[in-house]
Amino acid sequence: MTKKLNNLDKDHKHEELNNICENCSIENETVYQNLILTGFKVCESCRISKTIYPV
Ligand SMILES: [Zn+2]
Repeated sequence: MTKKLNNLDKDHKHEELNNICENCSIENETVYQNLILTGFKVCESCRISKTIYPV
């Protein structure tokens, strides 16, 4: 469990260098928020349209 969290944190440190949605390539501050919340680096509009909420 700890190992998995460390990997996630490592990804975040790399990804937070930009807020560019990997789906539509638009920069938006919600991209980083969604990355934390869902694990997907997408903007709010893409998140909603793809409905990628992990439950
Ligand atoms: Zn997007």
